[in-house]
Amino acid sequence: MIVHKFGGTSVGNAERMAHVAQLVTSSPDPERVAVVSAMSGTTNALISAARDAAAGTAETYIVTRQRLTDKHLRCLNEILPPGPERDRLAGEINSRLDDMERLCFAMGTLGELTPRGHDAVASIGEELSSRLLAAYLQGHGVAAEQVSATEIIVTDDRHGEARPDLPATRNRVRARLLPLLERGIIPIVTGYIGATPAGVTTTLGRGGSDYTAALLGISLEAREVWVWSDVDGILTADPKLVPGAQRLPELSYAEAEELAYFGADVLHPKTVKPLAEAGVPLRILNSLNPAQAGTLITANPSPDRPVLPAIITTEELSLIQVLGNGSGWTLAMASRALAALAQGNAEVFMFSQSFSERSLNLVVRSRDHSHSVHLLRTEFARELREATIAGISAEVEVAALSVVGVPDAHGTPITQRAFAALSKHGLRIIAVAQAASAYSVSFIIPERDVTAAVPFLHRELGL
Ligand code: ASP
Ligand code: MG
Repeated sequence: MIVHKFGGTSVGNAERMAHVAQLVTSSPDPERVAVVSAMSGTTNALISAARDAAAGTAETYIVTRQRLTDKHLRCLNEILPPGPERDRLAGEINSRLDDMERLCFAMGTLGELTPRGHDAVASIGEELSSRLLAAYLQGHGVAAEQVSATEIIVTDDRHGEARPDLPATRNRVRARLLPLLERGIIPIVTGYIGATPAGVTTTLGRGGSDYTAALLGISLEAREVWVWSDVDGILTADPKLVPGAQRLPELSYAEAEELAYFGADVLHPKTVKPLAEAGVPLRILNSLNPAQAGTLITANPSPDRPVLPAIITTEELSLIQVLGNGSGWTLAMASRALAALAQGNAEVFMFSQSFSERSLNLVVRSRDHSHSVHLLRTEFARELREATIAGISAEVEVAALSVVGVPDAHGTPITQRAFAALSKHGLRIIAVAQAASAYSVSFIIPERDVTAAVPFLHRELGL
């Protein structure tokens, strides 16, 4: 059995869904499961609508609801002919989005976005995309059934970053999916989401559909898990920035885990560990180029495979500086800032504290920028009023450039090689984070420098 996972762009419209259906039905193993993300842009739109509603800044949710209704109904109308089935699904899409609208209205009334409310809204995208893909397959005579992961992935109640209960999940997954597989039915499962034992919807963290695929893979003792992306596997650099980027054909689980930590946009960081423990191989494939072998991640990669460093770029990040005011700034304030962001579900990509300047640098996703500033302003309302904190800086668009690899033939660590190369380039480096292992280092640089810095570094590292 193979568990396939398709990301948001792969199910982004009716045409892409047709392509996904083709990939699933031509899977080499007759037993297959598909895990899907929300249609691209949907989760971001849902979360910002909820945040805006709670902050009282805008009633974006009304517009968002309309846009999401249009997008999903347009897709539905392209995949199913008019008839009762199409009407039934349109009704379901509308009812899920009614829920979204009501939840956002309530958040606006209360002026509060609770972690539970966040997940109730954020989970809607996968509920819709999975129904559409299942409908497409059924409409083309393929036996498929939509399954909501709230029925099978059992988690704790850490909303926004819920942790699965593996034994309970395994039991539910097997009880629900094995009978379908035995009857030749393809389960189409929502990625990203789960539920507490009491049935309250949770989410596994942004980009968590990969993790869902891994959880299903180990529970079902799958032969392999295939994560379909839109590049030829894991490469030495983003091919859009470096056309000559090389594919890494095979990686060990440990190598992939290190890479995923920095390259969360390629693979969710939690995906590798459960697969490594269960010994289930993972492939990263290109849905736009399915003949390409991609990257295979296993316990025993072939000893003569090329072992190359990789440069991972994460764009659309934003730097926020919390500026202390002389000796009024304390380390306890830094910890409050981080706690406030964590509680508000704003992911901190990296942070650094400059003791001489008494300020805290926070790197967040651009999509989380205004929400993060709102959380910080709320947390430090008194300090800002009393000027113990001088201010919170305006947005600076940055990118992270992470270099991951083992020491070269002379034993020079990758970190040292990366520093040497970047100093030659004269690049402005805003912040640095280095792993103790010396296998990886991340630089925060101005976003506009990425297009020049990455090809330069790729060449300097001998790639
Ligand atoms: N739709 C979710 C997100 O945007 C999960 C995923 O795409 O894997 O984070
Ligand atoms: Mg992803």
